[in-house]
Amino acid sequence: LPSSERRPILELPDELISQIAAGEVVERPASVVRELVDNALDAGATQVTVRLQAGGVRLISVEDNGWGIHRTELPTALKRHATSKIASLGDLESVHTMGFRGEALAAICSIAEVSVLTRTDSGDEAHGWLLDGRSGELQPTARGPGTTVEVRELFFATPARRKFLKTDATELAHCIEAVRRHALARPEVGFAIWHDGKLVAQWRAVAADLAGGGALDALRQRLADGLGEDFIEQAVAVNWPADAVPGETALADGVQRLRVWGFAGVPDAARSRSDWQYAYVNGRFVRDKVIGHAARSAYEDVLHGHRQPVYALYVSLDPTRVDVNVHPTKIEVRFRDSREVHQAVRHAVDAALAAPRSAAAASAQA
Ligand code: ADP
Ligand code: MG
Repeated sequence: LPSSERRPILELPDELISQIAAGEVVERPASVVRELVDNALDAGATQVTVRLQAGGVRLISVEDNGWGIHRTELPTALKRHATSKIASLGDLESVHTMGFRGEALAAICSIAEVSVLTRTDSGDEAHGWLLDGRSGELQPTARGPGTTVEVRELFFATPARRKFLKTDATELAHCIEAVRRHALARPEVGFAIWHDGKLVAQWRAVAADLAGGGALDALRQRLADGLGEDFIEQAVAVNWPADAVPGETALADGVQRLRVWGFAGVPDAARSRSDWQYAYVNGRFVRDKVIGHAARSAYEDVLHGHRQPVYALYVSLDPTRVDVNVHPTKIEVRFRDSREVHQAVRHAVDAALAAPRSAAAASAQA
């Protein structure tokens, strides 16, 4: 089409709108994995099983034991801007779920073959339902409560995207990393990943007893499973403010104050790459300059050159004080007051790094 002429303004067809949206959200198989695991966790799942074929390009299947989707709502779940997670602008200002845009399933349907197998946990139906995303056909089928979303032949309709994919091994590694990011924030949920019929990663559910620092113990266990003993053996516990119960996000009065907890590696554990820097805001994995800078500044005097500190830091704050609707993949957030977050993270990591030294000094004096 010549670009030098004025052309009529047309409304794009729905399918094309979804494909454009998919371009923002789905870069590679790991993006689909992330969205589907988000949904499983939002549905209260305690066990999530991911099955992949050919690095996820041929098949991505995510099975959960969450509360399922009611038959009458199943076709709506695949529509654009259809969500059970927000209903008003007010809800958007205080998001408590991983999802809220109602775009992921519709976007994925526009670039792959999707089917959803689900049964609610309400016990009012004797079987589940299978929805074929392409035909819209709904069939009764056997399964226990929960949902399985199957995505086949990703990017079949967009060969340009398909060409950007790397080898199966590389795509698999990205998929595993996507699940790991969820797993490190949810020790009480079990995860398993299968690739071409082989179990490639498994993180068993850890019993979380929130009383008396149990959340840090559960987290320690999950970090040891998810990142390896090396990570945790060289890390110190982070908990700020010092009198807060780690992992407890709201006080008895329901008020959510700013908190930071997790584990930070001792300076000797620093690496040449920044691959072991995990930051979460209200349970969501983020790439955040404020948190990154604050953590880095706590290591200022003890790390030299380009050594990268390692950490898994969990920031929780009142959801009205953070905007999660700034990026289609929600990997970036905007704090209402980034200074308070920066100071909290800085103090939290400072205190954690100072603690073992002062303990050692105290025992040396005794
Ligand atoms: P969002 O997560 O932003 O709401 P999605 O397109 O990812 O949008 O999902 C649309 C809706 O489908 C969700 O709001 C939810 O009600 C339902 N849904 C999707 N996946 C699951 C699942 N695994 N278990 C239960 N409900 C689900
Ligand atoms: Mg979602």
